[in-house]
Amino acid sequence: MNKSELAEIRSYWRGGTVSQKTIHSSKGLESDFVIITDLNSDHFGFPSDVHDDPILNLILPSTDKFEDSEERRLFYVALTRAKHQTHLLCDATCPSRFAEELVEGDYKIVVSGEKDASRKCPVCSSGVILKKTGKYGTYYECCNKPICNYKPPVCNACGQDIVMRYRGKDGKEFAICQSKNCKTIHEVCNRCTFGVLREVHTNNGSFLGCHEFSRTRCKGYKSFEVRGENNLFA
Ligand SMILES: [Zn+2]
Ligand SMILES: [Zn+2]
Ligand SMILES: [Zn+2]
Repeated sequence: MNKSELAEIRSYWRGGTVSQKTIHSSKGLESDFVIITDLNSDHFGFPSDVHDDPILNLILPSTDKFEDSEERRLFYVALTRAKHQTHLLCDATCPSRFAEELVEGDYKIVVSGEKDASRKCPVCSSGVILKKTGKYGTYYECCNKPICNYKPPVCNACGQDIVMRYRGKDGKEFAICQSKNCKTIHEVCNRCTFGVLREVHTNNGSFLGCHEFSRTRCKGYKSFEVRGENNLFA
């Protein structure tokens, strides 16, 4: 949390003292209320060097058999610092798995805000597709990368957004551009579960190929149909 964010919280909390600490430095301390920030999937914002803490080793069972056991210990430390209430702040597009486990579990919690369901990763279903900017421009990938390597195709009609695959009420699958101004329907790959067909151009000609080829080697394809004015090859 930066200084201005901290100042904003102080302005809401005139009666008491507000201070910022790392989880590590808060060990052994207690406060009336605790706010845990940055509980997101891409980073926990946690250091992960408390595994050798002798007191924690007494309190917690050997948790090494759990995933992320070190971060789990830290999270536990953070959650138990409050006398009254703990607030967790997560990015709604990609909350940490810890936050999701709390929501799904049988705990006394109140959730405000919602996860963006239209961007849910179809492959791992716990991740969300994020827009990123790299050396070669904008690209999209699942926030659970590298655990999940799914990348959605970008719509070739508008170039502005990703194409997501759905099952219609009639059971038929279709794929649609997520841009509100475009909504172009794309064909799905019949050979796999998540693939969308997109134009592939080679020296030997052009065809519609599965966009999952790079990830799963799916060889689903369809020969090109001439589609009137919008056809790039007319
Ligand atoms: Zn995913
Ligand atoms: Zn589009
Ligand atoms: Zn496919």
